[in-house]
Amino acid sequence: MNAPARLLSGDTADCAPVLKERGQREVFCGLTGIIWLHRKMQDAFFLVVGSRTCAHLLQSAAGVMIFAEPRFATAIMEERDLAGLADANVELDRIVDQLLARRGDIKTLFLVGSCPSEVIKLDLSKAAQRLGAKHAPRVRVLNYSGSGIETTFTEGEDACLASLVPVMPALDADAARNLIIVGSLPDVVEDQFRRIFADLGIGPIASLPERAVADLPGVGPNTRFLLAQPFLGDTAARLEERGARRLDALFPFGIEGTTSWLLAAAREFGVADAHFDAVLAPFQARAEKALAHHRARLAGRSIFFMPDSQLEVPLARFLANELGMVLTEVGTPYLHRRHLAQELAALPAGVQLSEGQDVDRQLDRVRSIRPDLTVCGLGLANPLEAEGLSTKWAIELVFSPIHGFDQAGDLAELFARPLRRRDVLRV
Ligand code: SF4
Repeated sequence: MNAPARLLSGDTADCAPVLKERGQREVFCGLTGIIWLHRKMQDAFFLVVGSRTCAHLLQSAAGVMIFAEPRFATAIMEERDLAGLADANVELDRIVDQLLARRGDIKTLFLVGSCPSEVIKLDLSKAAQRLGAKHAPRVRVLNYSGSGIETTFTEGEDACLASLVPVMPALDADAARNLIIVGSLPDVVEDQFRRIFADLGIGPIASLPERAVADLPGVGPNTRFLLAQPFLGDTAARLEERGARRLDALFPFGIEGTTSWLLAAAREFGVADAHFDAVLAPFQARAEKALAHHRARLAGRSIFFMPDSQLEVPLARFLANELGMVLTEVGTPYLHRRHLAQELAALPAGVQLSEGQDVDRQLDRVRSIRPDLTVCGLGLANPLEAEGLSTKWAIELVFSPIHGFDQAGDLAELFARPLRRRDVLRV
């Protein structure tokens, strides 16, 4: 049964009250993160301990992965495995032994939990310890949950990265200050950021995750980190527990966000303003040129964000401030007020925010507002399109390279394309 929506006033200083929604959800589970994480971490393997539904989700989401040598699989725990938990553990150990014997390239194995009750009964952290001890030091075995009961689709990445933090090497108080970019970015984007940091004279730089997960960066009291994604609350908390400090900034979407993100690091590492401006000027000019091209199409068009990826607030800020779009409602599954403080302050005054999901009520609002564009999950897009509403799949925003100056134009294009298609159909 759907819970009624409540209006809580005063939740954010600079915006209208946040509408709290607690009802039926329509979002992929955290297993989905494996699709982009396995591409990034090239020496890791994701073994989902789940059901046929989980296997089906991964296969259909990953499309043709079956033709590549994949870095994920599903250990299916069915009724026959459940004669006793001991049997399930024996079965899991057997599958892992076989996998690791066959695949010498695997350096980190993630056991990923799911929601079937059989799996919930299994203690995967104990299984990871047992298997880690057995296969050490060749393979590190970790575990996290991608269960749809506990996670929405981007939270799977958070759970995965959080599981890495306890095994990062410790740096002591005498170690030089280092900077970690936290969040799985496409290699091309990560390389661009690393070049800019090098030009600014900021370093040493590491990433979480690195392409080779075996090489985890060190962490200690002199570690500073920048979140590349707004959905990494647990990972950030664990890094802070290990003494690292988060640099507060906008998220690196668009010119405004990317400049703020880089500036936070530049301030921390003592980069002179003139040098910062000189290094960034050509990137900003190029991005501005790319955005100008899309502004004519997007300015004044209205957009509604259904809660899905947790990217909604930073993307809404980018679309409103840099492209002149009109925000009708910005929904997000979770609103991390501390990490999003600057983002919330940068939104246009009076924007309607909503946190959580109650899919029917939100669809009612979409239908009554009839925005020019609705950002939503795959399952909602087709019905809305059939009603004459243009949609953008939220998941595409997670798969695509959208961070940084050189991607700002591509990010705008992702929103402009469905509107262009609709305009052509109308003609
Ligand atoms: Fe479905 Fe749960 Fe498996 Fe996700 S983890 S595919 S929600 S059964």
